[in-house]
Amino acid sequence: MYQLIIFGPPGVGKGTQAELISKNLNLEHISTGAILRKAFDEGSELGIKAKEIMDKGNLVPDDIMNGIVKETLKKINGNGFILDGFPRTLEQAKALSDVFNELNFSSIKVIFLNAEQDEIIKRLMKRGRSDDTTETIANRLKVYLDATSPVKDFYGKLGLVNEVDGTGDVESINKEIIKVIE
Ligand code: ADP
Repeated sequence: MYQLIIFGPPGVGKGTQAELISKNLNLEHISTGAILRKAFDEGSELGIKAKEIMDKGNLVPDDIMNGIVKETLKKINGNGFILDGFPRTLEQAKALSDVFNELNFSSIKVIFLNAEQDEIIKRLMKRGRSDDTTETIANRLKVYLDATSPVKDFYGKLGLVNEVDGTGDVESINKEIIKVIE
């Protein structure tokens, strides 16, 4: 069973690559950003609260995100999953380790997709989601550096990180990712 985490700065292409990999390998694509956006579209209280936080480029509280991911992972069967957008803090990474233990998931692989900051900003500006305004992008990058990037060392120390260059065309990045996980 594939147990994958795709990790990296906002706008690096995690969503695009996670979608492709999930199709290639028949995995469940668990995107926490997409889960929150869906909750908003459905008009749920959580979704409305999350949207306000997201549009400022801040993080939705850990306890909420941990609960969502735990419930989602409990339902996983078949070929496995790729987690996209989670964990985003050390607290989330620790909570996730507990869930993995509970569910006996022991073949985790982390794909660290990376690109230069200039390239990332260019891509986010082009995308134009409601959290892709200049101000919000600046905050998201700050939040990434402060809260999220330590997650890389957390997995690095466990020897789980496979770094992939996120610049270039979508197809070759996809091939590179397949290579590191096979
Ligand atoms: P990106 O494409 O920039 O990586 P996502 O679609 O993954 O963005 O997430 C968009 C927003 O959703 C984040 O900026 C954050 O506000 C919220 N979010 C998504 N995942 C998490 C998480 N694991 N913890 C806290 N907030 C999250």
